[in-house]
Amino acid sequence: ANIEPATEAMIARRNALLGPAYRLMYEHPLHIVRGEGAWLIDPQGRRYLDAYNNVTSLGHCHPAVAEAICRQVQTLATNTRYLHDTILELAERLLASVPGTDLAHLMLTCTGSEANDLAYRIAKVRTGGTGVIVTDTAYHGITDAVSQFSPSLGPTVDLGPHVRLVAAPRQYHAEGADLGERFTRDVEAAIADLQRHGIKPAALIVDSLFTSDGILPEPAGFLKGAVEAIQRAGGLFIADEVQPGFGRTGEHMWGFQRHGLMPDIVTLGKPMGNGQPIAGLLATADALAEFGEYSRYFNTFAGNTVSCAAALAVLETIEREQLMPHAAQVGKLLLDGIAGLKAKHEAIGDVRGAGLFVGVELVSDRTTRAADRGLTSKVVNLMRDKGVLLSACAQGHNVLKIRPPLVLSAEQAGMVIDVLDQSLTEARWGDAE
Ligand code: PMP
Repeated sequence: ANIEPATEAMIARRNALLGPAYRLMYEHPLHIVRGEGAWLIDPQGRRYLDAYNNVTSLGHCHPAVAEAICRQVQTLATNTRYLHDTILELAERLLASVPGTDLAHLMLTCTGSEANDLAYRIAKVRTGGTGVIVTDTAYHGITDAVSQFSPSLGPTVDLGPHVRLVAAPRQYHAEGADLGERFTRDVEAAIADLQRHGIKPAALIVDSLFTSDGILPEPAGFLKGAVEAIQRAGGLFIADEVQPGFGRTGEHMWGFQRHGLMPDIVTLGKPMGNGQPIAGLLATADALAEFGEYSRYFNTFAGNTVSCAAALAVLETIEREQLMPHAAQVGKLLLDGIAGLKAKHEAIGDVRGAGLFVGVELVSDRTTRAADRGLTSKVVNLMRDKGVLLSACAQGHNVLKIRPPLVLSAEQAGMVIDVLDQSLTEARWGDAE
């Protein structure tokens, strides 16, 4: 199908100005001018249901966040070198959200990548090691250090010699074996391999929803053994909450809480400011002691009063609007509705999720679970044309990643299910032609 001349011209202008490293989503790239709740709106006023954006987790342009930003930006925009209440209130609220852990301090950054970069620096100082263990299709960010342990960036990024990959805990790989035991064994083997090469392990870093690995939330609790293994070996456990955090799973504020874990560091990002760039980490006093003694930390924009005001408004809104129980309820409708399509569509190999984060694995053969990357890309693009925005992830690029704002309504969840159903049917007609 053709791209509109006006869109074509805008793409050419963008490529000329921004260069070749940026990517647009979809075969028919979208030009968006406004956002409202779970909707994105194009210049002609066509509304697209945003089933992909967990940054604007409270809904696009949420008035409580907009007001908090406006009020603060008209009063004071400064940095962490002055005393200010907002950052302290934010720290108190965030630390109150991790009861039963030893997490004691908040440090702020502007992006999730920076948060993981800082977490890794802290882990290196604390352990005297450099070794990092991540899953085989993980994504943790863009800095030079963090890209070296983000294998999902693909072959242009060399993983560091201090990096070890373990297989993501895909259920079907573990048939007959206990998933937790298997993951623990893999992490123990990676620790032993680092040690054999004279590399001291600094950290195991895990996104507890395994977002880039294909969305692997179950069974809750299976991460415990692996975390204990890295801590026994003197390394830190860093829970990357950039994706699962801020109530996404519906049951807990943080993904690691589903696994009953004791993280040394928890990194935060994406939905933290509902679009305002604010990210950071929570760390135990023990993890931070040496780093604080030997380094000073100042990050010009991180922890600025305006971003902190936005983040406080986010936390207040999650509570006031009861978005966690809402995410649990609508997430269940979405998961059950899509699971119900399995009987009709052979291509659905598996449907899994937690709260408002759902993965739909598309396969060319249900028995072997062979990835159908072509079909997945077709479905993503068909759904976009029908007004529902989502994308794909996993090693085989064959898992639809559904991650809408937490305010998604039951009716909007129904729209995602219906449009997925139509698109799967239509993608198959396409094959027969
Ligand atoms: N960790 C995870 C799990 C992520 O998904 C991302 C972003 N997709 C990051 C870290 C990096 O965050 P940012 O893009 O804000 O640097």
